[in-house]
Order: sequence, then C-alpha cells, then structure tokens
Amino acid sequence: MRYRTQVMSEFHGAFSVLGLPVNVMSNYLDWLLERLRQGSGGHVITLNAEMTMQAERNQSLANVIHDAELVIPDGAGVVLYLKLMLRQKVERIPGIELAEDLLKNLGEKNIDKKVFFYGGAAGIATKAAESWQQEVPGLNVIGTYSGYHSPAEAEELRQTLIKLQPDVIFVGLGVPRQEMWIHQNRQLCPQAIWIGVGGSFDIWAGQKTRAPHWLANNNLEWLYRLYQEPWRWRRMLALPEFACKALVSGISEKLRISQSLS
Ligand code: UDP
Repeated sequence: MRYRTQVMSEFHGAFSVLGLPVNVMSNYLDWLLERLRQGSGGHVITLNAEMTMQAERNQSLANVIHDAELVIPDGAGVVLYLKLMLRQKVERIPGIELAEDLLKNLGEKNIDKKVFFYGGAAGIATKAAESWQQEVPGLNVIGTYSGYHSPAEAEELRQTLIKLQPDVIFVGLGVPRQEMWIHQNRQLCPQAIWIGVGGSFDIWAGQKTRAPHWLANNNLEWLYRLYQEPWRWRRMLALPEFACKALVSGISEKLRISQSLS
C-alpha cells in the first residue's frame, strides 16, 4: 500500500477501521503541502462511518480506499473507534475543514498552485470558486465544472483537465461516485492532489450550511444533516450499523489479544 511510505508530517501510523486503512498524523495540511511541493500527487479520502459501511457492500469502493495515498479520519464514529482501539488521542479532521485550510494556505502564502473545482448542480462550483477568490485573492482557481452532465461533456472535462493540469482537484459528487471517478481519472493529472469533498461546494456557494459548533462538538452533526435533508434517513442507518460492527470487532480483537497473552 503506497500510503505507508509517505512519512512527512509526524506520522502516527496506518490503522485499520473494519478492514479499511486510516492514516493518523499530527498535521494533514503539512502532508498535502509537502506532496504538492514534490509534485507527487495523490488521492485523499475522508473516511466516515457511512463510507465504511458502503465499502463493506461495495468491493470496488473498498479497493479504491486501499489504493488512496491518504485516508483521513473524518467521521465521529471512525475517530471513536480509533480512540477505543488505539487508546490514544485521535483528532477528527472534517474533510471540508482540511480543504478550507488548504485553500487558505495556498492563497495567503501565495503558493503558486492551480486549483480546479468539479461537482455540484449547475453554477455551484463556479459560485464556490468566486466566493473563495473573493475571500483569498491570492488563490488561483483555474476552472470549474458542474457535476451533472452528458457523456460528451464528461469527455470535455477530461480534455480540459489534461490541458490545464491543475495541482489540486476538488471533486464534489458525493460518496462513492467521487471516489470512483477520481480513481478512474487520476492518471490524467498524475501530479495533482485529488480530494473528494462531498457537498462542500454547496456550502461554499452559500446553498447549505454546516451544523453549529455545539452540535458538531457533541458528535451530533448527523442530526443536523437529517434535519436539513430528511431523505438521508435511509443512508444514516449506516451509523448504528457501524457502531454495532465496531463493537463486535473491538470485543473480538480484545479477546484475541487476551488469548494470545494467556
Ligand atoms: N452531485 C453531483 N453529481 C451527481 C450527484 C451528486 O455533482 O451526479 C453533487 C450534489 O450536487 C452535491 C454533492 O454531489 O453537491 C453530494 O453531496 P453530499 O453532501 O450528499 O455528499 P456525501 O454526503 O455523499 O459526501
């Protein structure tokens, strides 16, 4: 697995959450900036309980997660699992916040890198890009593309990426579409960092809002999403399913350790 060899910021290890890799580090932003400096590119995945459960049923998604250069612990469930299993402090890194830190850093430090936004309904990625350009004038968003298009337009997008060779490509198509798309297309810009950002463009474009801090701090961001998008209830059944599987896996792991010690 390639991600094991990338030890740039303080690297605490690659751990497994129900068979999927998660990289625990002290500073993910530094990892991204270093990768960009080297031009070595990579696929970044932000793992939460919902994606973990999807990967149980979708082997192609599981393979893509195993192949990614960086898997960050995004969801509260994943972080709790790691904390209980590792008995060490693991910080939750919401993917949207890591993406925002990267955008701010690139712009404010005038790091001359080209950024591309792909995904969302018509005009959303462009609106998100405009809002970022206004907030961080030093940022260089060189192009945007909507996430709803014909096969011919998909080919046009691929040709555009080949021509522009962005350094950072944010893909907001939702899980698992964005992960699969990145995996299939990343060879178009081998030096780029590709990050799946879900519905972040909707938030940056002002179409949706994030949960208030007090809810997020109490691991209740999912409740806010359910309130905003009630149709999510079926997808959210993945959360109790994850909790049960994590509990069973944790208990059997503890039994295995105590048996091997006796
Ligand atoms: N989307 C898209 N093309 C599609 C399906 C979805 O661009 O064919 C976009 C959608 O407009 C939204 C994002 O993908 O902006 C999905 O956001 P969501 O918050 O549902 O992502 P997830 O929870 O799966 O990370």
